Amino acid sequence: MEKRIYNFSAGPAILPEEVLLEAQKDLFSYKGSGMSIMEMSHRGKIFDAVIKEADADLRKLLNIGDEYAILFLQGGATLQFSMVPLNLMPPVNKADYIVTGAWAEKAAKEAKRVGTVNVAGTTKSENYTRIPKQSELKLDPEAAFVHFTSNNTIYGTQWRNEPEIGNVPLVCDASSDFLHKKIDINKYGLIYAGAQKNIGPSGVVVVVIRKDLLARSQDSLHTYMNYKIHVDNDSMYNTPATFGIYISGLVFKWLLNMGGLDEMYRRNVEKAKILYDAIDSSAGYYKGTTVTEDRSLMNVTYRLPNEQLEEKFIKEASAKGFSGLKGHRSVGGIRASIYNAFPKKGVEDLVAFMEEFKKNN
Ligand SMILES: *Cc1c(COP(=O)(O)O)cnc(C)c1O
Repeated sequence: MEKRIYNFSAGPAILPEEVLLEAQKDLFSYKGSGMSIMEMSHRGKIFDAVIKEADADLRKLLNIGDEYAILFLQGGATLQFSMVPLNLMPPVNKADYIVTGAWAEKAAKEAKRVGTVNVAGTTKSENYTRIPKQSELKLDPEAAFVHFTSNNTIYGTQWRNEPEIGNVPLVCDASSDFLHKKIDINKYGLIYAGAQKNIGPSGVVVVVIRKDLLARSQDSLHTYMNYKIHVDNDSMYNTPATFGIYISGLVFKWLLNMGGLDEMYRRNVEKAKILYDAIDSSAGYYKGTTVTEDRSLMNVTYRLPNEQLEEKFIKEASAKGFSGLKGHRSVGGIRASIYNAFPKKGVEDLVAFMEEFKKNN
């Protein structure tokens, strides 16, 4: 088998090797059908079983009950920035947005096209280096919903717990940490996640929506933009991203087989600790870019003493098979994305490289 590198890319990101190998085995002829999963009708028996299993397995992973619908849509998290307010803002036409990074800003921007956006909390003036505290939130009890971003992929911050918001429906963009741990789905009105970070390949966005909220979707909406249409058609109003849904389903099975999300979380905490400990014990050579208590388990962001050293670090790391470590172009520095599928061994080897680099530079 060809050697694989350590892929720290923020997204599209690493997938479990077991999933890739299983997909490879079935790629030419899916389970004796004589066709690839990519080549068959989304309305046929075989694909029908694939999407139903993906739905059932996701329900098992997060204990999702019948009062929620699961959708596998296209257009990424970015289309959800529009679909959420178009469907959920009326009739009150105002919503609370907690703005903790560039993706949250983009979500709020689209909501402003639909109604009034109250920025209920933001750390923009501190370059998004932390998550706002509960006491800082200025929530409107009459808001149609509260939107937050559970993990800030670019800045490397993450909510430890959901904000407490009373009876208003909670909406979450969980694109970069969905399924990294068990959450209580009953706290959410709607949660969405682009697949390409922690679920599967790009081209699929998972949406979990509490069914009572579907009453807000007005018939005047464009058909594809209407959640109710997608729920009524079991994500098959039009041709879904069949291959992406298939791979996502394999990832759900991979998570179930390892013991579920509590085990996944244990591994994620363990991995992130190895890297943060290395940063914290480097006598200031490596510096984390966020406050300690809000550090992300998924995207570890840090800096070196200067930009020249950062460039050298990325170049030498890349030559040694550590790929994707360059921070987002808007913030610079180093970003190691260590999503669910990223192996512990890769983190340990990166830490060894960091110690070596520090010694030599
Ligand atoms: C990557 C990302 C997005 C954008 O996702 P697309 O699928 O490219 O639209 C949105 N929100 C967060 C938190 C992200 O990390």
